[in-house]
Amino acid sequence: LQWPSAAAAAARDKLLGGLLADGLDDGSCHSRYQSAMYRRNAGREPSPHLVSKLRRHEELQRRCGPGTAAYSDAVERLRSGKSGGIVSPSPEAECRYLVSISYRGLGNRILAAASAFLYAMLTDRVLLVDPSNEMDELFCEPFPGATWLLPPGFPLANYTSFSVETAESYGNMVKNKVITTDAGDAAPTTAQLPAFAYIHLDHTSTVEDKFFFCDEDQRAIRNIPWLVMRTDSYIVPGLFLVTGFQDELDSLFPETDAVFHHLGRYLFHPTNHVWGLVTRYYDAYLATAQQRVGIQVRVFGAQPESPKLLDQITTCTQKEKLLPEVIAAGEPPVVDVALANSKSKAVLVTSLKSWYYEKMKSMYWEHATATGEAVSVHQPSHEEYQRFGARSHDGKAWAEIYLLSLSDALVTSGWSTFGYVAQGLAGLTPWVMHKPANDTAAAAGDDPPCRRDVSMEPCFHAPPFYDCRLKRGADTGKMVPHVRHCDDVQWGLKLV
Ligand code: GDP
Repeated sequence: LQWPSAAAAAARDKLLGGLLADGLDDGSCHSRYQSAMYRRNAGREPSPHLVSKLRRHEELQRRCGPGTAAYSDAVERLRSGKSGGIVSPSPEAECRYLVSISYRGLGNRILAAASAFLYAMLTDRVLLVDPSNEMDELFCEPFPGATWLLPPGFPLANYTSFSVETAESYGNMVKNKVITTDAGDAAPTTAQLPAFAYIHLDHTSTVEDKFFFCDEDQRAIRNIPWLVMRTDSYIVPGLFLVTGFQDELDSLFPETDAVFHHLGRYLFHPTNHVWGLVTRYYDAYLATAQQRVGIQVRVFGAQPESPKLLDQITTCTQKEKLLPEVIAAGEPPVVDVALANSKSKAVLVTSLKSWYYEKMKSMYWEHATATGEAVSVHQPSHEEYQRFGARSHDGKAWAEIYLLSLSDALVTSGWSTFGYVAQGLAGLTPWVMHKPANDTAAAAGDDPPCRRDVSMEPCFHAPPFYDCRLKRGADTGKMVPHVRHCDDVQWGLKLV
């Protein structure tokens, strides 16, 4: 590691401004308190309200989580299909739960868990994450003295196959009038409440499923003891549409463009094995460079090696002055040698394919840079194809997301949740490479090779398009301040 001084390193706030609780067992999760030493960008400060809310939420997870009498009672009631003995609907007194299903790629799973956590915090529910898909092997436990993993023996045995068809989905229960929300402001009585509801929020969700983002539906959902949520998306911008959450969200996150930045750094600590992959790579290849530029090249399906995409990468990085231009062979560089020798750049490429990395590496070897800077190019792995449920595959993916997040500047591929997570952890607004709108635009050179994003927040790919008050379709990108459409996915929503 290269720091201005050891004292400065020691002084870095390992608790990230109070985001992390102090005093956890260091040995079981080295990354938790070491990550600050690897980040040159100290990141945003969490608000005092967020810090105290996190400590209270941790207390809730300890009081109601697995291993407590409250948890055993709640599981028993779910098993017997009872909604529970909530006599007075005092949510603080009762333990209520949110189970978050983990599916799809790693970036999707991270965004889903972060979204579920914020919803759990807003509604005082215990968050339990479905441990399948390696959620238990990739991440340390985030809550001190409590587990966030759903233990074996959960009574809804088939919960991971819940889908849009599931009768107990909130959308289907509304459609079939099992739950009604039109009783004015009065929430349904406990006698009418089901023991659980399945919240279906993936790309197949219906209009009724998306009533989840309406105030009166939130009131109906509030006292249901168990929720099981499926999403592969970052639903947080949708939570900002719910009037009842707005004051709390404003005080938790006075900077609305840093919500995932805080949630992500709070929740996702690589386990020791993955942290080894991160730190060994960083120390060996990236630590000594003056500047690190991360380039995420997302290759979908069996996309062939694309000279056009390679050109997009080099044009983008050179035009935006992230990397130096190269000069034609034979020409002597016009530089101040002493100055140039003191500058070096390390480029970290992440991709399923190695072709882009090899081309860039050759370019900076075979040609001198116009500035005289030394540019080294690195890529930790090239897994060739996206795989589901392969252990070492996801460990590498997580290490690479994390390594990208240790960059000083980031270039990402639009549409990719892998890149969203890296930029959020880094606290960096990336330059995004978009797919050309069409071939004519590409040929005419109308599309810039990349554009600076509007914020570091992830994009919500499957948002609602509904005005809950007027009960009709609406452009949700124009309804509240700080929630607008994304640049990469035009119908998507993001916080700015
Ligand atoms: P998204 O599909 O781009 O939104 O990102 P996801 O992370 O959800 O899913 C893509 C999956 O493909 C990742 O989780 C990895 O398993 C794999 N993958 C994609 N790009 C890379 C890469 O650059 N490096 C590695 N190691 N894996 C990748």
